[in-house]
Amino acid sequence: MYPSGQGMPNRFGIYVHIPFCIHKCSYCDFYSFTRFEPADFFKWQDRVLREVEESASWLGSAFPGSRKVSSIFFGGGTPSLVPTKILGSVFKALSGSFPFDEGIEITLEANPETVTPEFCDGLMAHTPVNRVSLGAQSFQAVYLEKLERTATAESVVRAVSLLRAAGVENLNLDLIFAIPGQSLEESLDDIREAIRLKPNHLSFYNLSLKPGHSLFTKLPSDDFSADLYEAGVRLLENEGYLQYEISNFARAGLASRHNILYWSGGDYLGLGPSAASRIFGRGVFHHRKALSDFSRYLDSNPFSSEGWEPNTQGQTLLEATFLELRQNEGVHLGAFRDRYAYDLTEAKNFPLFLREGLIDREGEWLKLTARGRLLADRVTQDLVD
Ligand code: SF4
Repeated sequence: MYPSGQGMPNRFGIYVHIPFCIHKCSYCDFYSFTRFEPADFFKWQDRVLREVEESASWLGSAFPGSRKVSSIFFGGGTPSLVPTKILGSVFKALSGSFPFDEGIEITLEANPETVTPEFCDGLMAHTPVNRVSLGAQSFQAVYLEKLERTATAESVVRAVSLLRAAGVENLNLDLIFAIPGQSLEESLDDIREAIRLKPNHLSFYNLSLKPGHSLFTKLPSDDFSADLYEAGVRLLENEGYLQYEISNFARAGLASRHNILYWSGGDYLGLGPSAASRIFGRGVFHHRKALSDFSRYLDSNPFSSEGWEPNTQGQTLLEATFLELRQNEGVHLGAFRDRYAYDLTEAKNFPLFLREGLIDREGEWLKLTARGRLLADRVTQDLVD
């Protein structure tokens, strides 16, 4: 059980997980399933609505006072498969249960091939979504096939145009690089194609596969992946996309609020079958784990105060350092000290990392250098050991 509101900032985010997909892409680690029927949308809706009600009541009693929601993120799975009227009923419940911050960011993840004129009309009619994140991944058929994506380059272009026509201006496109067989030019071509569509935001992820995956042994070397990454970052920055996190780029002022809340150690409530939650209090993070099983989710208590697990201080430090250092602006050393009672500059390897050019310090700000970003895991681990 989470016992105290001490240290909670007065804003938080809500993540709503939707577990349905048309096809399970073999590289994907997120919990989702493809065998469902329309009745499952309604089961999901009923369960989430109860969870909204109970989580709002729990939050109100555990943390009295005003806490405003600054961002909502509908992720999955494929949220754009769910009828927009159902999404609308969840938004209605959320807005009736939680105070919303002015300028709240409301993102929906969508797969391009599911974005139809009817979907866009429904989205506008039934929901206040003001940002859509499209999983493009690549614009080249050969690599879309390797990733087992059901979208095509044409479906991405069409989805962008339909969403814009419907009034959704704030768009993100996800791209993946280091797909087996992909050349440097092909990876840059994907970025160029994406930029041609003028999204406000681009995410550029390194493909990660587990040992045993049929493409695992065909992944490019770390050195080549680093070359792809560095060339991609240069191209995006030359085109006016500012990097604000290892994999995320945005036009000035259009970084995702939800991402920033997550990476700056902010609090979020997760609703839905595979949605974790995190709240900071008494000097450590408290997590409420996801169930990642639809049937168990439907049968479980909607939202009880049970199930919150406090991290140790070591786990909290590792998580906070890992997340905050991912951001280009880096970590504010004083704020970090105040919040986590730990001075990163006293880490044994701090001087070594400075000398090796992996980190950079400007006054109270500590950042990873471009080289340090490629070794972010090692640097993070050694700064809190
Ligand atoms: S569509 Fe997205 S969530 Fe669904 S399996 Fe593919 S990558 Fe995973």
